[in-house]
Amino acid sequence: MTENPRTRETRPQAAPASSRSGAVRETRTAQVRPRTEGWTQQKDAEGRPLLQFASPKRGKPPVHLADLTPAERTEKVKELGLPGFRAKQLSTHYFRHYTSDPEQMTDLPADTREQLVAGMLPSLLTEVRRLETDRGDTIKFLWRLHDGALVESVLMRYPGRITLCVSSQAGCGMNCPFCATGQAGLTRNMSTAEIIEQIVRANRLIADGGLGGKKADDHSMERVSNIVFMGMGEPLANYKRVMDAVRSMVAPQPDGLGMSARGITVSTVGLVPAIKKLADENIPVTFALSLHAPDDHLRDELIPVNSRWKVDEALDAAYEYYAKTGRRVSIEYALIKDMNDHAWRADLLAEKLNQRGRGWVHVNPIPLNPTPGSVWTSSEIPVQNEFVRRLNDAGIPTTLRDTRGKEIDGACGQLVATTEDEAASAAMS
Ligand code: SF4
Repeated sequence: MTENPRTRETRPQAAPASSRSGAVRETRTAQVRPRTEGWTQQKDAEGRPLLQFASPKRGKPPVHLADLTPAERTEKVKELGLPGFRAKQLSTHYFRHYTSDPEQMTDLPADTREQLVAGMLPSLLTEVRRLETDRGDTIKFLWRLHDGALVESVLMRYPGRITLCVSSQAGCGMNCPFCATGQAGLTRNMSTAEIIEQIVRANRLIADGGLGGKKADDHSMERVSNIVFMGMGEPLANYKRVMDAVRSMVAPQPDGLGMSARGITVSTVGLVPAIKKLADENIPVTFALSLHAPDDHLRDELIPVNSRWKVDEALDAAYEYYAKTGRRVSIEYALIKDMNDHAWRADLLAEKLNQRGRGWVHVNPIPLNPTPGSVWTSSEIPVQNEFVRRLNDAGIPTTLRDTRGKEIDGACGQLVATTEDEAASAAMS
């Protein structure tokens, strides 16, 4: 069916209680329907957007020190015919000095360094491209994995923190119609070490003074302090490797990166069983639910996994995460003009959140970039402000989020899409 993105329709029948009581007066509002632009969503046998949960079988990346537990690292070093304690030395180089360069490992016997590095620290990410803002305080990396798959990470300096947005899968199987990453489906899950290596490479760059925006009189040793799993992929669809990576992030150095779990945000579009599992992990990460619509009517189209787990189920699981961990949950909400930014949707969202309790949740509306002519364009500023005001007035702490990173290349996955397009054009010319 050809959809007209600018059709007007009345809002869904089941209006929220606040509307019924007259608190919201709009009667007919523009409703832009989600649709893909310039690509066709793959559909399943029933004609619904295809969801891929299992990673296609591809050659696995080489096993790396960061894939192994400390005990397994020792065993592996012994298998290489070297004393087990070398594993700790290698871990120190990797997790504390952010290096895989044998030349720099001067505490290791010269004749074994190459062998140790080849066996324990194989190359996982090749930098293909780097984009940065004028001030150099935001850097987007495009990496090639061992099998040619491409992924991205974005490094951002904020006052008092340095955040890295990491990828957890090459491609993504969740098929969201607005997302460049989802277009080609899921290529494969990333390994634990491929996830960790994004952080180690960022830390190396920071240690070398490559991240701009540092004050001239600041001589502190810096490194990535915050991780957000909001690059390519649905992290909870690659649950085991993502959780192993989180364990390595929080493990004290030199066994891991020694980061604070609170600075790590694991986000999902709503894989309910995995959210429940995450709540039982006993690692106090920040949990974020990318909701983007409070009603199933819209969310079924906007986030196809909603056909599997509905808004209320996702919110119940998010609340359960809070109840079990005591960690306040973030709700991510991209504000899209005339699609999901209606005042009644702010009221409905507030109502659904308040139904489950008070003080358990924080909402982060994220304005999209203005894209003239696209159905995926930013809400007007007054509309954004009204959306935020209604949530705050209803007692839900709400703050508009910064959209850093977008200025250098749009939403997640766009750099990969651009590079693949260029490669395709080059191949055709
Ligand atoms: S928005 Fe996120 S979950 Fe949806 S297709 Fe893109 S990467 Fe996957």
